[in-house]
Amino acid sequence: MINSKLLTIVLLFMFIAISGNASDSVKRILFINSYSPDFPTYIHVGKAISEAKEKAEFDIEFLYGKETDNQTHFYLSKEFLTKKIQNRTSYDVIVTVDNLALDFALNKRDSLFPNTPIIFSGVEDKYLIERARETMGVSGITEFCPFEETIKLAKLLNPKLNELIVLTDNTITGKANFEIFDKYYSTNPDINYTTINIGESTIQKMLAEIEEYSGNKAILLISAYRDSTNNYYHFHRTLNQIITLSKIPVYHIYEHGIGEGIVGGKPISHYQMVKKALSKALLLSHDELLADTSITNMPAREYIVDYKAASLYGLNIKAIPGNATVLNKPSSTFNIEKPVFYFILISIGLLILFILFLFYTMQNKKRMNYELMVAKEKAEEANHLKTAFITNMSHEIRTPMNSIVGFSSLLRSTDLNYETRGQYCQIIENNSNHLLTLISDIIDISKIESGDFAFRLSKVHVLPLLKNLIVEFEQKIESLGRNINIELKASLPENLYIVSDKVRITQLVSNLLSNAVKYTTEGNITLGCSTKNDELLVFVRDTGIGISGNYIDKIFDRFVREEDAKKVYDGTGLGLAIAKSIVKKFNGKIWVESEKGKGTTFYFTHQLS
Ligand code: ATP
Ligand code: MG
Repeated sequence: MINSKLLTIVLLFMFIAISGNASDSVKRILFINSYSPDFPTYIHVGKAISEAKEKAEFDIEFLYGKETDNQTHFYLSKEFLTKKIQNRTSYDVIVTVDNLALDFALNKRDSLFPNTPIIFSGVEDKYLIERARETMGVSGITEFCPFEETIKLAKLLNPKLNELIVLTDNTITGKANFEIFDKYYSTNPDINYTTINIGESTIQKMLAEIEEYSGNKAILLISAYRDSTNNYYHFHRTLNQIITLSKIPVYHIYEHGIGEGIVGGKPISHYQMVKKALSKALLLSHDELLADTSITNMPAREYIVDYKAASLYGLNIKAIPGNATVLNKPSSTFNIEKPVFYFILISIGLLILFILFLFYTMQNKKRMNYELMVAKEKAEEANHLKTAFITNMSHEIRTPMNSIVGFSSLLRSTDLNYETRGQYCQIIENNSNHLLTLISDIIDISKIESGDFAFRLSKVHVLPLLKNLIVEFEQKIESLGRNINIELKASLPENLYIVSDKVRITQLVSNLLSNAVKYTTEGNITLGCSTKNDELLVFVRDTGIGISGNYIDKIFDRFVREEDAKKVYDGTGLGLAIAKSIVKKFNGKIWVESEKGKGTTFYFTHQLS
């Protein structure tokens, strides 16, 4: 019970302490603007206020200094504000923006807020600044008028610039700024200038005058709010009229209007000035603020250029300072931050690499699939050929073997006469020889297939080799009793040689001659040879049975024999397959020309050494 009472008392003390501190820390600030809330600079002023709003309690007031039609109205505006403030509790600090607000604060300080510190901003009127300097507890930020920088920018964008048209009026700010410009010009008179003071003219006359200007001139806008009729003109309305009529670029020493037709400048930032004034108001204690009399200047911070407006007046875009803030840049040109640009670039690069990698992988997979398919087809074909080969072989071997076995058993019979026995022996001998040739051909073929076919290279003299073959085949024809005339047609030098395997070349020509003899009952056989370029051309021509058209293409394949030939002549169908393999080995070509019933010519080539 006692404990809970104690806790309540402690909490109560804590609450009082916290609430007491809180009311101490939140300052009450009276913020006085010289103009209305829709004056173009207020958007920047308001931004600085809203950033400080959580740390202070603001009363924001407007004097409507430019907008009130005449002095009486302005007087009433000030009186109204005075009445409003009179009834309020005291403020910790007064913050003002622009000349009129400081003037008001200084005039009313003793009656409305005695002993309250004042922080001003945006003041360029030298008389006001003097008064502020002489008053206790008044500190602030003066407005720096960047005429030098703005004229420098105008010259950069048009090096031929020869005249400035200075637009001003008779408002306090207009007068003060023009005085500063005039002072600056008196020490830098390198460009002519013409003044249009709308305070002594009318807005219509000013617009008509502006319309006349062209060439290497530029408008320097200082102030154009009130003309001699004492009418107030809203900034944006006047600006739009100027921009519509003017053939020459417009520059401004303030931020407002840049990006809305004004080419640019190095403007005064109201946001920065008010921000600085407010942070001082929040940071320093009441006593510190009263003791503070510092008056500082706020220099213009950066160039701001409207790309679109500069292009429109044909200014030198390339001369825009590198560190300038560029507004209204066309989206086709790169308008993105460098890191973002590099990030996008790298991302695109990586994406392209990834796509290439995918493409490569797919191509590789495709190629591998294709290779696998080809290998499979080859394997299937090889398997098929092997089966065909074995089937053929069994058949080819069985035929002579049957004869040998059959006639051998017949020989056992005792009642055979001598002549018959001799005939049987001859049959057995013939079939044995046939079998031998067959086996030797099979061995050659299988060696060729496996790549073990032995080739022994040497100098092979062509003419002697062909002559020997002619002699050999003359004897063969004679032994067969055929009426065939065989001749050699070769006008070659005796010592012409090729580098080749003599046994295999002999085997090759011999196979062709054997066929010629085999498939010619009577007629002529010619063995011809000639040289052409780097090649030796050999042919074997006969006047035999010829080859039908549908066999011509397959005749070099193993075991292929024409049906007519099969019925009448012995053979296994391996001779030409062996011939083709030998020719191929020596990088030559082999082909045939034939006409059924008229004769056949085989050709082959061999490299000359
Ligand atoms: P072998 O294996 O004993 O030589 P083969 O002569 O039948 O038997 P290949 O020399 O390969 O086998 O010839 C194949 C086929 O080509 C022959 O069966 C025959 O039909 C045809 N041929 C080859 N040369 C001639 C030719 N000069 N005239 C007509 N047909 C021929
Ligand atoms: Mg043959």
